[in-house]
Amino acid sequence: MLLGGIEAGGTKCLAVVGTGPGDIRAETRVSTTTPADTLAALIAFFRDAQGTHGPLHGLGVGTFGPVDLDPASPQHGHITTTPKAGWAWTDMVRPFREALGVPVAIDTDVNAAALGEWRHGAAQGLDSVLYLTVGTGIGGGAIVNGRPVHGLVHPEMGHVLVPHNRHVDHFAGVCPFHANCLEGLASGPAMEARWGQPAESLPAGHRAWELEAQYLALALHGFVCTLSPQRIVMGGGVMAQPGLLPLVRADLAELLNGYVQSPACTTQLDDYVVAPALGHRSGVVGALVLARDAARS
Ligand code: ADP
Ligand code: ZN
Repeated sequence: MLLGGIEAGGTKCLAVVGTGPGDIRAETRVSTTTPADTLAALIAFFRDAQGTHGPLHGLGVGTFGPVDLDPASPQHGHITTTPKAGWAWTDMVRPFREALGVPVAIDTDVNAAALGEWRHGAAQGLDSVLYLTVGTGIGGGAIVNGRPVHGLVHPEMGHVLVPHNRHVDHFAGVCPFHANCLEGLASGPAMEARWGQPAESLPAGHRAWELEAQYLALALHGFVCTLSPQRIVMGGGVMAQPGLLPLVRADLAELLNGYVQSPACTTQLDDYVVAPALGHRSGVVGALVLARDAARS
């Protein structure tokens, strides 16, 4: 069954056509400019792929947010109050449904990535999984007991507050809403603003990485204690820094201090906090999982 998937991000959108991660027939990357131009470029890609590969049976969208995921809401599928210029109240479902004539399912970008890694990647066979991205923003998607968590709106794990020792870290934070929430202190732009250079240019051994690992581990400690995930997958541009993941594991082990009684949190942390198996495709592969569900319902 041929399906379409979109991961819509604040700077770029990825789109694929295929049946699953082992069978991607077409793939594109579109810059996130205005909603009209971006959605038109994505629709053109899918129309073209339909011409070449045949009709799509469903489309899945994993999107940046905040997004209304309440099926009963008249604004279902709309981006809501994003500070991203021009994108507030953009409908991310209907334009695709109408232009392509397919059922469309939507979730957050990080829930989609969690779904992708759960069904096809680093967290197969588990019931409860956390996917955390550390990039331009920080966000978390969780599968708990086999279902993506939505709740009141959807989780905003990047905006949790972590202890901020201003004697050690003088930086005020970049979140426009909270200043020194996790995203405000530990996103890629926070690192760049604190150290005056892009995160990718900070050398291994720079104090930046020690501080970064500490903030991420503080947040993970909270997520382990609240969600009890069976595995944590950490993606996003900042996690591409070699050496960061081992630092995060070590700090997490120290913070947990042997309290959570599972080998995952004591002797087997290398298998507990892991990189995505699907690389940059976790989100689009998860969008294909959403598409399959849409096609079946
Ligand atoms: P987005 O969050 O927009 O989808 P990414 O996940 O690629 O994009 O994250 C972009 C951020 O990651 C930027 O702030 C960039 O500075 C940072 N980044 C990219 N590559 C690296 C790297 N190798 N090491 C550390 N930070 C990186
Ligand atoms: Zn915040």
